[in-house]
Amino acid sequence: MEVRAVKPLVWNFRVAEGKEAWREVVYSARLSGVPDPLKEEEVFRMMVRNDYGSVLEHVLVKFDVKMSKGMAPEFLEHRMASHTGFSTRYLRASEGGREEGVYEVVVPWHLLGRGERDPSLRAFWRAVGGALKEYEGMLERGVPREAARYVLPFCQAVGIYHVTMNLRSLLNLLGLRLCVRSSPEFRCLASQLYFLLVEQLPLLRGLVGCRGFMLRVCPEEGVTGVRSGKPHPFYPPCPFRDPRSKIFLPTKGETAGSSFDASLALKAQEELFRRWASWEGEPSPRS
Ligand SMILES: Cc1cc2nc3c(=O)[nH]c(=O)nc-3n(C[C@H](O)[C@H](O)[C@H](O)COP(=O)(O)OP(=O)(O)OC[C@H]3O[C@@H](n4cnc5c(N)ncnc54)[C@H](O)[C@@H]3O)c2cc1C
Repeated sequence: MEVRAVKPLVWNFRVAEGKEAWREVVYSARLSGVPDPLKEEEVFRMMVRNDYGSVLEHVLVKFDVKMSKGMAPEFLEHRMASHTGFSTRYLRASEGGREEGVYEVVVPWHLLGRGERDPSLRAFWRAVGGALKEYEGMLERGVPREAARYVLPFCQAVGIYHVTMNLRSLLNLLGLRLCVRSSPEFRCLASQLYFLLVEQLPLLRGLVGCRGFMLRVCPEEGVTGVRSGKPHPFYPPCPFRDPRSKIFLPTKGETAGSSFDASLALKAQEELFRRWASWEGEPSPRS
């Protein structure tokens, strides 16, 4: 029995219609009234920048992805996608690998780079090896795969999917998962997706990143250890959190500034909503 460490991986990435796919976004935007003088490239960028999402849905992206079984539920939380998965009911867990008979596992980020003698890394391999041995033993004794798989470890790299999603959904995924708060394995997949995407559609470069980068304001407000307070011991530091740096991105609260009066703003907003709800029209400027 061979067990091999693999990295989470995206492959077979392609944009349907290839490098010209972005033109369909422009076509849809023009149809909805975006005027001619605006150059095609600028129309595309504006649709992405301003999050005019429906036109982005015409661009389809397809890829294959491999991750630990434990990470798979996080990936599947992205519901606006079509996924077809590798089945541990019908296939032996070693069949998901590139080489026949080799069990692939994802070593967690926090254990990578530790020496072979590290006690936690040793415990990891001991537990994985033991579980796989029991799995093989059960199969040999005639236990069906769909039952034996219950002893497979979380790290087993059998979270394998063929995925189709539209560009709107992919940008939503990237915005959430390129953030330092995303789990390390998802950050690895999202980073690979990012580079594959901008290689295929270079016009997106500079418009795609974590939600803060895309919106120029970070929605992660009041998240201790990331945007405020002592740095979290396990998250990488957010590159945009330092107000003295040239790449500082404020959170929503910081954008509004300290002079922003939230209760006055609420009053102003509700006055507007009352007028709109009344359907009485605007007061005539002459009256
Ligand atoms: C750092 C981080 C931590 C997280 N922690 C947790 C956690 O602790 N527990 C947990 O359960 N999840 C957690 N999540 C997952 C998160 O809540 C989302 O489920 C996941 O990121 C998928 O995002 P989404 O819903 O935007 O994507 P999709 O499911 O692809 O949906 C795309 C968009 O479609 C719309 N949409 C989809 N479904 C609906 C619906 N039913 N109703 C209305 N609008 C809809 C929304 O606008 C949504 O943004 C975490 C995510 C991140 C990035």
